[in-house]
Order: sequence, then C-alpha cells, then structure tokens
Amino acid sequence: MPELPEVEVTRRGVAPHLEGQLVTGVELRREGLRWPFPADLSKILAGQTVRTTGRRGKYLLIHFDHGTLIIHLGMSGHIRILPAGVPSQKHDHFDMAVGNQVLRLTDPRRFGAVLWHAKEEGAVENHLLLRALGVEPLEDLFSAAWLYKQTRGRTSAIKQVLLAGDIVVGVGNIYASESLFQARINPKTPAHRIGLQRYERLAQAIREILAAAIEQGGSTLKDFIGVNGQSGYFQQNYFTYARAGQPCRICNAPIKQIVQGQRSTFYCPNCQK
Ligand SMILES: [Zn+2]
Repeated sequence: MPELPEVEVTRRGVAPHLEGQLVTGVELRREGLRWPFPADLSKILAGQTVRTTGRRGKYLLIHFDHGTLIIHLGMSGHIRILPAGVPSQKHDHFDMAVGNQVLRLTDPRRFGAVLWHAKEEGAVENHLLLRALGVEPLEDLFSAAWLYKQTRGRTSAIKQVLLAGDIVVGVGNIYASESLFQARINPKTPAHRIGLQRYERLAQAIREILAAAIEQGGSTLKDFIGVNGQSGYFQQNYFTYARAGQPCRICNAPIKQIVQGQRSTFYCPNCQK
C-alpha cells in the first residue's frame, strides 16, 4: 500500500511534467473509484494550467487557479506520466492530458480517489478529508513535545495512536513498526505512558525513516515515465516489518508479529521495551 514516502516520491516524479502545463482533457473510464468521479471534470480542467503540486498526508494535490485536484492512491493505485496515445489497460481508470503527455491513474483494487475542490469552497486544507489530519511528520510543527502533549490522554497503544493519523499524519503500518524499533519502544506501550525522552527518540526516528524512504524512492523516479514503468513503490531493508521469526538485526532475537487494530505489528521484544 502506498504510504507517505511513496506519495511524496510520486509528487516529485510527476511535478516537472505538470507544473506550468496546460490540461487539454480528461478521460474517465468508469463512474468512480472509492467515490464517484466529479462528472464534469473534463469541463472543469480542460484549458486550465497546472500551477503547483503539493501533498497532505497521502493525498496528492494538483493546484490550479480555480481549485485543486485531490488524488488518493488507495490500496493499490499508482500514477505514471506517459506519452499521449498510449492505449489504456484494464485498470487504467483516469487520464489527464497535460501538454503532450498523459497523467494516468492505474488502480486495480479501486480504493483510490479523484476529487475536485473548487476555490470558492475555501482553502483545500479545510476539505472534509484533509481537515482532521494531524501535523506533517517532515514539517516543523512535528516534534517530541508535540507527540508528548497530544498523547497525555491517549491510553491506547502507541502503534495504534501513530496509525490513527490525527496527531501525526502519514506514519503508516510499515513506518510505524520501523520507527518504534529505531526508538526502542514496544509498540504495545500505552501512548500516555511514554515520556518526553522516549518521544524525542520516536520523533527523530519517524523523521529519519520517512526522509530515507523518500530519498531511496527518488532513485525510482525514472519509472514514472514510460509505458512499462511500474509504480514508484520501493522495498527497503526493514529491521522488523514482515520479518516475523527472523533474527533481529541488532540482537538476533526472533522478530515477533502481533495484531493490533487488525493490522500486523512487527517488533523485537528484546530491543523494544
Ligand atoms: Zn533486537
């Protein structure tokens, strides 16, 4: 599933092909994905120039003078930039023709979304899907003090608090497990029991791990262009994620797998207290 780094790498990959370019048309090959596509999207976008791109959590934002196109990749979506005229395949649901290229959204499981937020409706940050999101982990508002303050009343496990996304956004299942390992915090620890010092380690781990993932994903940027390019998702050498039963890379104890809130958590019971 695409997480924050994959979405940010996608944004960086497509941005130079979009920004300053004229949209000449939109093709919708079904009614919608997770939600219906805006039916008049072609009318809304044709003849308009893409100004900038952005990201909020896992939402890719494509800004125009008169509003913002919001794209979510769902469980399995990915975006490519293709030369105009490349025939669509089964799971290609959305095309936006930009300059002499096409931005194409492919989404086999169809949990993704393409939405339009008109400027008259106010700032896009206040969109229903965006306004409850926590702070961005790579921006200045995110800190150990923020984590500490926001978790004083939270009795649920720190792993689930991270995944909830209302305190800090975009720390998905993989990066939550990995960050808690690097911070040496047991994922089952109630969030309000964690002190400032341990949150210092956790905030640093989250920032470092996400930044490293984005940097590593940057090397796949070429894959956004070309017919056969796969998604920009990337496999890293994880310390815990999907390594159940394998030896911890630090202490050799077997990595443990548990289920928290219907999601798998991986951790080292020896390193993470
Ligand atoms: Zn260990």
